Order: sequence, then C-alpha cells, then structure tokens
Amino acid sequence: MNSIHQKILIITAPSGAGKTSITRYLMKVFPVLEFSISAATRKARENEKEGVDYYFMGLEEFNHKIQQKEFAEWEMVYEGKYYGTLKSELKRIWSLNKVPVLDIDVKGALHIQRQYPENTLSIFVQPPSVEVLKNRLQSRGTETEESLAARVNKASYELSFNHHFDKTILNDDLDRACAEAVKLVGDFLQN
Ligand code: 5GP
Repeated sequence: MNSIHQKILIITAPSGAGKTSITRYLMKVFPVLEFSISAATRKARENEKEGVDYYFMGLEEFNHKIQQKEFAEWEMVYEGKYYGTLKSELKRIWSLNKVPVLDIDVKGALHIQRQYPENTLSIFVQPPSVEVLKNRLQSRGTETEESLAARVNKASYELSFNHHFDKTILNDDLDRACAEAVKLVGDFLQN
C-alpha cells in the first residue's frame, strides 16, 4: 500500500459549527477525498438517502456490528442515537486509492486519532460562539426544541476539546474558513 491508502482526514466540531459545509467544499477542491459514510440509528431526514448520507440501521443491527468489532469507532452521539465509522467503509475508500473524510463528533474523532495516529489530519472547526451556533441550528430548521437544546448543551462541552486536534479553524466567515482548510488539506495530501 502506498501512503495515500492509509491517510484519513477528520473534520470535527460541535453540531452546527459548519463542518459539513467545509467538508463539502474540500471534496469539490480535492477529488481524491471521499466522504466516509457512517452507520447511524437515527431516522433519515426527508432529503437523505440510504448509503449516501448514512447507512441507516436499527439498534439491533448496530449492536451486532459493535459485537463483531466492525467499527473503527462508534458513539452514542445523542441520547439513544448511535453513529459509527465502519472499518469496511475505510477499506472501501482506501481500495479506491482515495482518502476518507470523516465528518464525525469530537469523541469519535479522538478515537480515530488514537487508533490511526500515523497518517491522520484532524481539523476542529470552531464556531465564533455558542450563541452563533444555536442560531445556525435554528435556521437550519431540522431540530425540535428538545433536540436543539441537546445539541447546544453538547456543543458547550465539545468546545473545550479543541486543543486535542492537529489544527483548529475558526468559522467566523465560511469563505475564509474554507480557504484555510484548503491550505491545510493541500499540505496534508502532498506529504
Ligand atoms: P446528524 O444527526 O446531524 O447527521 O449528525 C449528528 C452528529 O453525529 C454530527 O456531529 C456528526 O458529525 C456526528 N457523526 C456522524 N457520523 C458519525 C460517526 O460515524 N461517528 C461519530 N462519532 N459521530 C458521527
């Protein structure tokens, strides 16, 4: 295997910090990047597709995969909602001679970093403030009052982890944050 096979790019942040926008932008700029499709037990949103946004599955199937050690990492990201990166997904992407991009929560990112320390770049996307993050989540319109509160609470906690990652990007302006991400990822892919 050459080195590109073993690389992993992690984009992590509290929900609503803008990591998905930055991830999408990076994938347009660097065709070698391939989105790592996670397994998840939450329900698909209206515009989401099975095997594109997530591998949606029931709790039983997810638990079975945990027992079979099929996950590179998994987390209960929200109360009763499990998300995980399948080892088979990383292998699928490496076999295409591409670099998986993991858009995952902070704890999951820490796990992957620990397991694959050699060729991994982890980028933490920092929102300007919890207030801005709350406004972004509200305007996205995908959350109920309860799930919004859960995401905001979790975000405050996750923000304290920024120093655990290789790089932090402040997302006060999406264009500027994307440009910074392009520079970091460009260097990472070259080495
Ligand atoms: P959403 O429900 O909005 O799609 O995602 C909720 C959170 O779960 C986001 O922060 C997302 O990055 C995270 N997430 C998605 N996939 C995974 C995964 O495979 N592992 C972990 N640990 N978190 C994930």
